[in-house]
Amino acid sequence: MTESFDVVIVGGAVIGSAAAFFLAEALPRSARVLVLEADTGYAHCATTRSLASIRHQFSTPENVRMSMFGTEFLRHAGARLEVNGEAPLIGFVEAGYLFLATAAGWATLQCNHAVQRAEGAQVALLGGEALAARFPWLATGDLAGGSLGLAGEGWLDAHGLMHGLQRKARSLGVQVRAGRVEALLREGSRIGAVRLADGSTIGCGTVINAAGTGAAALARTAGIELPVQARKRCVFHFRSPEAAPGCPLVIDPCGLYFRPEGAGFLCGMAPPEDEDPECSDFDVPPGWFEDRLWPLLAQRVPGFEAARPLSSWAGHYDVNVFDHNVILGAHPQIDNLLFANGFSGHGLQQSPAIGRALMELVLHGGFRSLDLGALGWQRVLQNRPLREVNVV
Ligand SMILES: Cc1cc2nc3c(=O)[nH]c(=O)nc-3n(C[C@H](O)[C@H](O)[C@H](O)COP(=O)(O)OP(=O)(O)OC[C@H]3O[C@@H](n4cnc5c(N)ncnc54)[C@H](O)[C@@H]3O)c2cc1C
Repeated sequence: MTESFDVVIVGGAVIGSAAAFFLAEALPRSARVLVLEADTGYAHCATTRSLASIRHQFSTPENVRMSMFGTEFLRHAGARLEVNGEAPLIGFVEAGYLFLATAAGWATLQCNHAVQRAEGAQVALLGGEALAARFPWLATGDLAGGSLGLAGEGWLDAHGLMHGLQRKARSLGVQVRAGRVEALLREGSRIGAVRLADGSTIGCGTVINAAGTGAAALARTAGIELPVQARKRCVFHFRSPEAAPGCPLVIDPCGLYFRPEGAGFLCGMAPPEDEDPECSDFDVPPGWFEDRLWPLLAQRVPGFEAARPLSSWAGHYDVNVFDHNVILGAHPQIDNLLFANGFSGHGLQQSPAIGRALMELVLHGGFRSLDLGALGWQRVLQNRPLREVNVV
């Protein structure tokens, strides 16, 4: 072994870059932090294939708090991530989410609303008539109402955030290298080193698993079973001759979502569970837009009858099949391996909160700002799921 680092971060997309940034800010300049990234083009990671949106409308207080910190971070990211007078282009648009509910889902929406309000989120419940008055382009006949984010929710440039975090971390001394970690070399209750695909090894004080959908394979090399699987999610870009003024990110009761993007719109929907196997390819299934999404779009927004598809892509959600929430922190069997995996579709918006939390775990051995203890391994090992109801 020729080299050793205080912290080795495996995976350099948004979570790895956020951890690197917060560590670089907090640690003395003499500390050695290394990010190892298998694909420095970031062609297939979830971060760059994401819908890149942020909401406060979750059912779990921890998720609301993390996203609220995400908003604060995004609002000031230009100044915080500036390097040599140049601020990153993050393109944060605060335009809100609108969760719609039929009579069947209204009680759940109200319940979630109470959780969000208790955390200080600025959200409002609108009945059917108020919805129709505010969004006249929306078909509301079957709806009991909706929950609208009034501030702090919206969308951003995911690549811009990742790049900005990484660039700032580098400017503060973090090293970022191309390299696939093939194995975590375990010595009893510690990881002594990581082994790369070229056979070289690098010693480590702490290792952070930020490998996204590669996290379970990485954990397995250290004898840990991480319940995270890749699930395909497709996003479709379309244009519509009919405008939808003031359109937020709309979540239909059937699971369909859509939001503006430039002069057009993005939309998508999770497949039913029995059509959602673990996946490895990035093919967009034929007919998804025309046969499945378009009829639903036109049902909710009659003006979308004239929608025209422009392009599409597939990405992989890093799904925690245990309870759809991140698994954060050390496994009781290994002291110096920190996990931040299984975001199940909401990792981009949580990246600032998770980066800060990982920094606190490395520096202090515990959380200092948000208490995210409920998101640790104990719940998995003791079979106590912390379920997030609002998974999109
Ligand atoms: C279609 C889609 C829409 C989404 N929409 C949203 C949204 O609107 N809002 C939101 O908050 N989240 C969204 N997400 C989820 C979000 O993108 C992810 O949760 C988040 O990007 C996870 O970041 P990450 O850094 O953990 O993983 P990734 O972005 O997947 O990055 C993992 C990195 O680790 C590297 N890696 C893996 N294994 C190794 C190894 N062994 N050695 C070295 N490097 C390795 C990979 O090359 C990759 O670059 C969406 C995801 C998808 C797919």
